[in-house]
Amino acid sequence: MHLTKPTSTFISLTTIPMNPLNPEEFRKQGHLMIDFLADYYHQIHKYPVRSQVLPGYLQKIIPESAPCSPEPFETILQDVQNKIIPGITHWQSPNFFAYFPSSGSTAGLLGEMLSTGFNIVGFNWMSSPAATELENIVVDWVGQILRLPESFLFSGGGGGVLQGTTCEAIICTLVAARDQKLSQYGMEIIGSLVVYCSDQTHSALKKAAKIVGVNPKNIRSIKTSKASDFQLLPGPLNHAISTDLRDGLIPLYLCLTIGTTSSTAVDPVGLLSEVAKNYEIWVHVDAAYAGSACICPEFQHFLDGVENVNSFSLNAHKWFLTTLDCCCLWVKDPTALTKALSTNPEYLKNHATESNRVIDYKDWQLMLSRRFRALKLWFVLRSYGVDNLRNFIRGHVEMAKNLERLVVMDKRFEVVVPRLFSLVCFRVSPSAVGQKSGEDVNEINRKLLESMNGSGRVYMSHAVLEGVFMIRFAVGATLTNMRHVSVAWKVVQEHADALLR
Ligand SMILES: *Cc1c(COP(=O)(O)O)cnc(C)c1O
Repeated sequence: MHLTKPTSTFISLTTIPMNPLNPEEFRKQGHLMIDFLADYYHQIHKYPVRSQVLPGYLQKIIPESAPCSPEPFETILQDVQNKIIPGITHWQSPNFFAYFPSSGSTAGLLGEMLSTGFNIVGFNWMSSPAATELENIVVDWVGQILRLPESFLFSGGGGGVLQGTTCEAIICTLVAARDQKLSQYGMEIIGSLVVYCSDQTHSALKKAAKIVGVNPKNIRSIKTSKASDFQLLPGPLNHAISTDLRDGLIPLYLCLTIGTTSSTAVDPVGLLSEVAKNYEIWVHVDAAYAGSACICPEFQHFLDGVENVNSFSLNAHKWFLTTLDCCCLWVKDPTALTKALSTNPEYLKNHATESNRVIDYKDWQLMLSRRFRALKLWFVLRSYGVDNLRNFIRGHVEMAKNLERLVVMDKRFEVVVPRLFSLVCFRVSPSAVGQKSGEDVNEINRKLLESMNGSGRVYMSHAVLEGVFMIRFAVGATLTNMRHVSVAWKVVQEHADALLR
């Protein structure tokens, strides 16, 4: 072979003095970073919970282009303190009660750090056997704690996977369901497939249906009402399905929710899955937030009937002390998933002897490359133990119960829907503001929420149910204790005093 000799144009290695993975630098800067975060958690309650900056704030204080030469780590951290933190909404603040909080923990955070440190790309078994095998083990562990039927566990022929988010879990299961129907009836029926949910189902389902190619006209968002606590009921579901069958459509997928996002309503899984059974519909249960509570025996009954569904998911990054992102998805029939999502190019094959016996998680998800998410969940389970995890949940539920009592004691307010978990939905009641129209009452509550959030002392969010604007107070941040909840209620009362005067 003819090789050209290097000429004077070759790059001398001595012109690259930098080692971006120098272990001693890492140690030094790593300690600084941990100290920075520890200080942050010490002071987190002092920051305005919801960021107070205006759009475009950062552009004005950050240089227009990237630096050509290195800058010291300390300088960068200084900028984090001065320029980034003002633009942070502090989800870990004990005064964060908006949306569903994302419960951080030392074990979750450091487990995350470890997986980032290894920085493996675990698409198949061989790409890091421990990543796949630990994931098999921890999803079975969590499944056992939830008392999911054996059929969802690897030990019982099913199996679980850690996805990034619920949105991904829904897309994957919907694709699996779709492909089953297409292989049964032929590609041309795709326009006839129908997806069922309630008007309380998370918007993730609509997005998934769009991506998966379901005709937007074939999404049945079945109406719920306050009379039935915003649950999807078997009657209306059965009616919708029968109507579609009569029209020559093909029922495909039903998404049930344990703990809806607006009000934590729980669909009766047993009754609804009985209906679906008659029509060969894939049933998924989205328990993103409230699934974590079902590790406690007193909430276990919400899972009744889950043995009849096809898949079940919960977000460990919501109420299970595991940092974002970590959605646990269990399926009864893993081959339905892998049939739909497998690709098998030569360059991704495991060594021939293992290929048939191992799990390649690339075939259980949308993406190829995947993080070692099991580590952080394993750290959480081992560092705290199941008893403490249960008590963690119960603590938040108790605080929410206490808050509910405080709301009821102040006659100006009302609880809008019954509290089931740690979310309290309340509002200034119409009677407190005289004979005003529904819209006016909504406007007062909207103003109340904005004035509280604008103060920076607390952060709550809202939802609208049957035209009623309500304030959502979700207890779930790790640092929250009853004192924070009491003070937050005082904040509500003070702002209401000013507004109703
Ligand atoms: C939070 C939530 C979702 C969305 O979760 P992602 O992980 O962000 O996709 C879906 N469904 C319910 C019921 C939720 O509470």
